[in-house]
Amino acid sequence: MNVLVLNSGSSTVKFQIIETDLELIKKNADRRLAKGVLERIGSESLITFVAETKGKTKTKTKMAKPIRDHRAAIDEILRWIISPESKIDHITSLSDIHAVGHRVVHGGEQFKISCRINDEVLEGIEDNIELAPLHNPANLKGIRAVTELLGNGVPQVAVFDTSFHSTMPETSYLYGIPYHFYRRYKIRRYGFHGTSHRYVAYRYRKIRKIERERVNVITVHLGNGCSMCGIKRGDSQITSMGFTPLEGLLMGTRSGDLDPSILEFLSHKEGMRLNQIDTILNKQSGLLGLSGLTSDMRELLEEEAENQDRRARLAIDIFCGRVRRYIGAYFADLGGTNAVLFTGGIGENSPVIRERICEGLKCIGLKLDKKKNHGAKPGAETEISAKDSKPRVMVIPTNEELLIARDTVRVVKNAPRRW
Ligand code: ADP
Repeated sequence: MNVLVLNSGSSTVKFQIIETDLELIKKNADRRLAKGVLERIGSESLITFVAETKGKTKTKTKMAKPIRDHRAAIDEILRWIISPESKIDHITSLSDIHAVGHRVVHGGEQFKISCRINDEVLEGIEDNIELAPLHNPANLKGIRAVTELLGNGVPQVAVFDTSFHSTMPETSYLYGIPYHFYRRYKIRRYGFHGTSHRYVAYRYRKIRKIERERVNVITVHLGNGCSMCGIKRGDSQITSMGFTPLEGLLMGTRSGDLDPSILEFLSHKEGMRLNQIDTILNKQSGLLGLSGLTSDMRELLEEEAENQDRRARLAIDIFCGRVRRYIGAYFADLGGTNAVLFTGGIGENSPVIRERICEGLKCIGLKLDKKKNHGAKPGAETEISAKDSKPRVMVIPTNEELLIARDTVRVVKNAPRRW
């Protein structure tokens, strides 16, 4: 099957076409045929579309063009997919797209697994708009645009960022506020990046050739957004993002954990409204806010190395310290762990950051092999711990789109969706 995977954001649509099927999943032989991104929807849009053969670029289209809305964006993608110019393997008409998988950010409490989109599911996603006011409306626009452009005959599947964490016990997801706020408004920890944590844990299981029930690991996703997950017997037990993605680790522009009283204090001192403070915490904090330079870890590392910038170093140290503290906390929470798995743009590509995080974790038996850590090739699954380290430490590149495509196949074919 050729599955179109769509990630519709507020002003961006990303897509991939993945050839996959139950047999191909078993053999880990599914492959990406094309990928692309449309940025700045609503104005002069930047478009980058790439067709691939055996992991190599076959054709590339780059242009700027006014794109009005999500429907126009998806129309542009579909037109390119079937155009002679794109030359995507096995695809010449829209009937060669057999299913569409959508990343949906918030599944609330009702969506515990990926599911086929029908009126009831659409209503459920709408009900959760309150919990994800920026993301769910964009996801819905993507779904509706596909229905309009491809018709009801092409199955669409929703894969939720929150689903993997639906196994968390009450003791992990309830906040210490009056219980009726949970009952009335469903204020609780939901967690995000679930597709990434689940994919990484799945790859660990395959690499180690063990049953799902024996997967006891801590997954560490470090990208622009950062989160961690404590997994016991294959299930998410605890994760660092909370009611919204703001909680937990320090991120590119998000503060992560902070004392909630700061909001009232800041509002009083600066005469700001709560929504302005919320914007500061989400968009102007984290690495960017602390360094005053950039939210980009690679640039910060360069600043630190070349210019000995004090605040760049401070931001990186606070970033690494927070991850280290969470590893320690989850280790205690889970009663030990068999492995710590790094993923995401920073987790996969920066040996220096992995080293700085793992310094000081000897107290839990964790030791990196410096050579293996620095020798890890980008994109490769690599063990980087010393022989006598327990837990193991590994780099496992994430692939959320692949998991979305695979879940789409499983849903369409009524196959089990457990990993
Ligand atoms: P997103 O969360 O938007 O998907 P990514 O997972 O691509 O983002 O992560 C982006 C982050 O990864 C940026 O901070 C970038 O600087 C960082 N990054 C990518 N490559 C490296 C590298 N070689 N060294 C350090 N940081 C890197």
